[in-house]
Amino acid sequence: MRWGLIGASSIAENHVIGAMRELGGDIRLVASSNPERAAAFARANHIPRATTDIGAAVSDAGIDAVYISSTNEKHFAQAMAAIAAGKHVLCEKPLAMTLAEAVEMVRAAEGAGVTFATNHHLRCSGSHRTIRDLIAAGRIGRVLSLRLFHAVHLPDSLRGWRITDPGAGGGVIPDITVHDADVARFLLGEEPQTVVAQMCASGLGQGVEDSAMSVWTMPSGAMVMSHESFTHPFAGSGLEVHGTEGSILATGVMTQQPVGEIALVTAAGRVAVPFSDHNLYVQGVSEFVAATAGNGRSAANGWDGVASLAVALAVREAARTGVRQTVSYGAAE
Ligand code: NDP
Repeated sequence: MRWGLIGASSIAENHVIGAMRELGGDIRLVASSNPERAAAFARANHIPRATTDIGAAVSDAGIDAVYISSTNEKHFAQAMAAIAAGKHVLCEKPLAMTLAEAVEMVRAAEGAGVTFATNHHLRCSGSHRTIRDLIAAGRIGRVLSLRLFHAVHLPDSLRGWRITDPGAGGGVIPDITVHDADVARFLLGEEPQTVVAQMCASGLGQGVEDSAMSVWTMPSGAMVMSHESFTHPFAGSGLEVHGTEGSILATGVMTQQPVGEIALVTAAGRVAVPFSDHNLYVQGVSEFVAATAGNGRSAANGWDGVASLAVALAVREAARTGVRQTVSYGAAE
């Protein structure tokens, strides 16, 4: 796969470039809004071409696909340009600032016959896939509830637009709740229906929330409890799925690394459940590349990105208004 990177970002540098190269990908160019940043990023990451011309970048005949990891408000226009140029698109979450834009991106990709995927890494992990399989195999009976613990401590290097700029898509809800929405959908195989929520700024957020808690109902009757934050240095992450016949307790699994522990607790006792420790980003990029060749689907496709955004938007609206929201999936319904 010949790639163009749109956005001189940390996530590209720290995770996705390595995944592309591990799979034999050829990164041909990086596009950024800033010429010095583009050039420095290209130099540091051994990318032959740096440009500030997004239009030229996405229509470069030498690339097959783009990876969009700019700030969130830029995803829509950049993805639409890439799709119009006939490129496959792997786009970071949240797909866009509004549901209508996200739907438009996915529909445009369908119309153009290109592959469009959302980089939800957690569903690519061995831990989450193992938990999903345990649930699907009935090992905990009927699912009663899912609790998601995703309160982290934002590293200094990421304390820019995320905590100061609502216009760039800052705030913990577009940043982390959107991932948790994808996790719930992936593990339980159903769509959140209604949400209640609270949010606050607890130390880092300047004009955006840095912490959120919400409760979601699912069509099966299961309930989901979700906690996200940028300000919790020692909380650790994890998830618990509780069913009529057992519970799955997973610690340290809401992360970019293939780490953590899973325990299955039933009437028979508590057992540790092993899982694959493959790289999450390699898995996601690999399934995207396979999908572009007509082999299977991306780990999270465009409609998955629409749905996770829909839930995150409902959580923010519920927190803003104090009123329970019914999740609107727009055209994805
Ligand atoms: P960064 O802040 O590192 O990069 C985002 C954009 O900010 C870059 O594209 C660049 O703009 C600009 N930028 C980078 N460095 C600087 C700087 N020193 N000064 C000013 N501007 C700078 O963000 P992330 O990499 O953390 O996030 C990018 C996207 O990826 C977001 O959509 C986020 O939600 C998503 N993400 C996804 C993760 C996942 O695991 N799926 C994890 C982390 C983030 P320009 O485009 O102009 O070069």
